[in-house]
Amino acid sequence: MLVDGFGRVATDLRVSLTDRCNLRCSYCMPPEGLEWLPKPELLTDDEVVRLVRVGVERLGITEVRYTGGEPLLRRGLVDIVARTTALRPRPQVSLTTNAIGLARLAGPLREAGLDRVNVSLDTLDGDTFVRLSHRDRLPDVLAGLAAAQRAGLRPVKVNTVLMRDVNDHEASSLLRFCLEQGYELRFIEQMPLDAQHGWRRDDMVTADEILDRLTAEFTLVPDDAAARGSAPAETFLVDGGPARVGVIGSVTRPFCGACDRVRLTADGQIRNCLFAREESDLRAALRSGASDDDLAERWTAAVAAKRAGHGIDDVGFLQPARPMSAIGG
Ligand code: SAM
Repeated sequence: MLVDGFGRVATDLRVSLTDRCNLRCSYCMPPEGLEWLPKPELLTDDEVVRLVRVGVERLGITEVRYTGGEPLLRRGLVDIVARTTALRPRPQVSLTTNAIGLARLAGPLREAGLDRVNVSLDTLDGDTFVRLSHRDRLPDVLAGLAAAQRAGLRPVKVNTVLMRDVNDHEASSLLRFCLEQGYELRFIEQMPLDAQHGWRRDDMVTADEILDRLTAEFTLVPDDAAARGSAPAETFLVDGGPARVGVIGSVTRPFCGACDRVRLTADGQIRNCLFAREESDLRAALRSGASDDDLAERWTAAVAAKRAGHGIDDVGFLQPARPMSAIGG
């Protein structure tokens, strides 16, 4: 098992399949993009599956989420998902995506055994979408969401980051849209993980503000806190239910004490926290002939060193060198 010094057990593995993305969301990367990882540095499909297999078979990983960058840009994605769902004990397998291309891939991914998707959608307005992401792709995202629902990738969850004076007035309309379509909406507080290092606490739309906006139009009843477990979202029953909405207050309502996540970057580095400043290089180990036992040992040591919290509130907080797109959100 992957246990840290505070007794937390990591069972949820987030795997970034690429650092590239076809959007340029301003809270994540600059309009001109970033210097992408050179191909030889990326794990091959076989290397990804091998490390995931070690996690599942030897280290107690029960959930695997593929992310990026944009995971739909990874050519071997469907095959990687099929090989992951063939592992035993069979992990839950999900995808975090911007849904561009999902209209075509939702069916094949479902056939490969994918269980669910989380789709990022920050606005329902085409102009705002362009302003936020520097690409004119809102219709593709909406088509991808609908295809995921049709393919049975349930529940279809939607992730939204609200930016002050950009899309924060859309909280209620996004919730109404998700209720109508049968998607589960989660608002995520903006975190200091943008490549430009432009995050400012005063600019951030907080969980309290999000809830104020929503309760102006909906009746929200908090779910039992004890039932939350390691889920990052605080959830609320909307207008008597059964639909729910979630708020992930990563900054103002941190949930590090219940964290069960560990991350593998596209270039094979284990990160024990989104905000970790140290990584453990499994790619070098595996390319120099490490056995599964060696890999498991390195991975276990990396998780054991996890800090108590993300430390955003600490005086000495330093944003990690890698941005969200290169870590895997
Ligand atoms: N491209 C995929 C997508 O759009 O979902 C997967 C990668 S993206 C980095 C994963 C999630 O991280 C998205 O929901 C995105 O909104 C979120 N994200 C990116 N930068 C963030 C930040 N600075 N604060 C909070 N969430 C962020």
